[in-house]
Amino acid sequence: MRQPLVVGNWKMNGRLGEAEELARAIAGAEVDWEHVSSGICPPFPLIDRVASAVQDSPVGWGAQNLHQEDSGAFTGEVAGPLLKDLGCTYVIVGHSERRDLFGESNELVAEKFFAAKRNGLIPILCVGETEAERDAGKAGEVVREQVQAVLGDGKEDVFRDAVIAYEPVWAIGTGRTATPEQAQEMHALIRGLIKEAYPITGQSLKILYGGSMKAASAPELMAQEDIDGGLIGGASLKADEFIGILRAA
Ligand code: PGA
Repeated sequence: MRQPLVVGNWKMNGRLGEAEELARAIAGAEVDWEHVSSGICPPFPLIDRVASAVQDSPVGWGAQNLHQEDSGAFTGEVAGPLLKDLGCTYVIVGHSERRDLFGESNELVAEKFFAAKRNGLIPILCVGETEAERDAGKAGEVVREQVQAVLGDGKEDVFRDAVIAYEPVWAIGTGRTATPEQAQEMHALIRGLIKEAYPITGQSLKILYGGSMKAASAPELMAQEDIDGGLIGGASLKADEFIGILRAA
């Protein structure tokens, strides 16, 4: 049995005052916390505030990105050891906005994934195809390559203590959720890839769906066999929506 996980990706949103209020509302919500885990990934400067707001609750916290090195002359970047100091549990790597807008390649994303693991953080590896890739019948191939870049030669059980988020690019922030069938098909493909290399890890790996998930669409998505929760963007900025998704999980 895989316990569902629902993670909020606030992206570049949130100000000092409202961040604490939103985090507190989520931490204090009436949710069956025995059966669902949760985390909030705010912008870097808000991590400490969010941590203070949720630290006495079951809700964890994390970051949206990290640098692949652990320290050094990398102006404007944030490294894994500091995220660990801040008590982060999770760090998102390879979000499609990072890949697309900031030119992160599969190779760089893999380096970030291993930087997270080296620092005792749980990487949430985001994968997903664009609309053009899906229309060309290449969704499976693209996602397979993104996973394979991290799996490498398969000699190490790298997805133990990691999470994968399947986020079709055409569904992110568009209000156009993948159908439960479309999502399930891709989740099963991803789980199959990991299982081939490491059966036990493949079975226990949490694979989250991301892309316009809302409280209303969550139950049907979460009911799919290989969907173990959600990575939530827009709906994570509204307490009611996010709590609704936690209840559906
Ligand atoms: P969305 O974003 O829920 O706003 O589509 C999901 C994500 O980008 O992680």
